[in-house]
Amino acid sequence: MNIRDKSWSQAENKTFDVAIIGAGINGAAVYKRLCSDGYNVLLIDKGDFSCGTSQASAMMIWGGLLYLKNLDISSVYALSKDRDTLISSYKEQIMPAHFRYVFNKNKGRNKFFVYFALHFYWLLGFFRREKPEFQDYFDELSFIKHDAADGSINYQEGFLKWSDSRFVLDWILSCQSLDSLALNYCAIQEGSFDQQDKQWSLSLSDLTSNHRCNVKAKVLINCAGVWTDNVNEQFNIQSRYKHVFSKGVFIAYERPKTHRQPLIFDMGEHGDTLTLIPWGPVSLWGPTETLVQSIEEGYTITTEDIYFLQEHARRHLKSTLVNSKIVSFRCGLRPLVVKKGFKADCYPLDLSRHYKILEDPVLPWISVYGGKLSGCISLAAKVAAKISRKIPKRQEGLPLRNDQAENIRWNFFPGLEVRVPAIDWCVENEFCCTLEDYLRRRTNISQWIPREGLGYNNENIWFLEELAAHLPANNARTPGNHLKAYVNTVHDGCDRLIKTFENHTGGFNEPSEV
Ligand SMILES: Cc1cc2nc3c(=O)[nH]c(=O)nc-3n(C[C@H](O)[C@H](O)[C@H](O)COP(=O)(O)OP(=O)(O)OC[C@H]3O[C@@H](n4cnc5c(N)ncnc54)[C@H](O)[C@@H]3O)c2cc1C
Repeated sequence: MNIRDKSWSQAENKTFDVAIIGAGINGAAVYKRLCSDGYNVLLIDKGDFSCGTSQASAMMIWGGLLYLKNLDISSVYALSKDRDTLISSYKEQIMPAHFRYVFNKNKGRNKFFVYFALHFYWLLGFFRREKPEFQDYFDELSFIKHDAADGSINYQEGFLKWSDSRFVLDWILSCQSLDSLALNYCAIQEGSFDQQDKQWSLSLSDLTSNHRCNVKAKVLINCAGVWTDNVNEQFNIQSRYKHVFSKGVFIAYERPKTHRQPLIFDMGEHGDTLTLIPWGPVSLWGPTETLVQSIEEGYTITTEDIYFLQEHARRHLKSTLVNSKIVSFRCGLRPLVVKKGFKADCYPLDLSRHYKILEDPVLPWISVYGGKLSGCISLAAKVAAKISRKIPKRQEGLPLRNDQAENIRWNFFPGLEVRVPAIDWCVENEFCCTLEDYLRRRTNISQWIPREGLGYNNENIWFLEELAAHLPANNARTPGNHLKAYVNTVHDGCDRLIKTFENHTGGFNEPSEV
């Protein structure tokens, strides 16, 4: 029996101290913290683990440099502390990384202003990172436009080694035990609070098989990211906060050999920046910041998004890079917390990236709003403090598992230089249910290989067919269906986008430089 089937059967009729709704970075951090505090915890996600915003970030573990703009010293201090705790505690997953702020000859922030700001930032991080330094010459100048670069300054933050979704997944997997369980593709069919036995009753269904089970929990925590308001509505929870949504899109170019570290460019609008991040065989360019009205709109990449990114890329980067083929797209929706009556009509960067944790005054219910990868440890500690006032800790926390990485079975994928966890291993041990789970979140194949792993000319279809044969089959999903469903998604998403773009511009390879 694979880990997923085992977890579903263990969950049946079980009573948990806490159930967490939503397995992105916030849900995973709270899960990990509560498990290590000795609570019995259930973590559920209606999709795959980390299938929301936490699979689409820039993967930077930063100390809150952005907040210096408003002289919000306490936030910078707290986030820098979180960043450094994460870097020192999770060396396998997070590495210290140099970021390079590239000065523009014609516009952008003053060199000495940036120099002093970054030194102040370094000081607020108690000098735990390396000292910022001016550098006029660096390898990346080979693909930056001559008039776009006027020296640079190097400073240090943290960066996820593999990916954001792998980071979340590893945290979740390290907590699986007889007492604490995580379930993906798990929908809450019904939920209500029983005033007599002071517990929530939840009826859950497995979306891959329609299997149902009932569980109970003393406290519910809503960590559903951009869906937090929907979940509160489902349970009739009133709140003084809500989320507004800011869409962030990256495009991934083929990575030039000389691209070694994240580059930061002044966008020249709204005081915002754009980054070029080296990640495996690709260079991620973006992200955009667009306020959107709905979640659906937020997960739709438009031609405007791509034009915007290409246009700005042309201002900073040489045509050899900008006109190279686009390998993949990456789109996420930032959940930004605001007061209920707030009408957002500003540039989204002006909205707070802080988190809020709100307890319902009547029911044992906690809603988590906003947040970032970087602040997840202190967010989880604050939620844990609230839980400990409701439920005394049961025991000293069990040591969390860290044997996963040692036992992984590895495989290769055509066109990738690094090895990847084998799909049968991921099905057995990592709750992998579909090709997309495997190609996007258990590995980075769909972001690193063109057309989400299919290859520019479908040259990898045969390999995906072999992979699909290892996926759990049921009535709806035979290996053939798995492949068909995946290929259809690529046609409707990635291919549609490339086609629309080519129709408008005559292709990615038009030789123009603005
Ligand atoms: C373009 C971009 C770049 C970013 N870069 C960075 C960065 O470099 N560093 C950084 O620190 N932060 C960054 N962020 C912010 C960060 O990624 C997000 O704040 C964070 O991932 C949000 O995590 P979350 O757990 O709140 O939400 P999510 O990751 O969206 O998780 C919510 C989960 O809840 C599940 N869910 C929803 N409804 C239900 C339901 N009814 N039942 C069960 N489950 C449900 C969803 O399926 C989802 O998996 C970036 C964000 C974007 C968009």
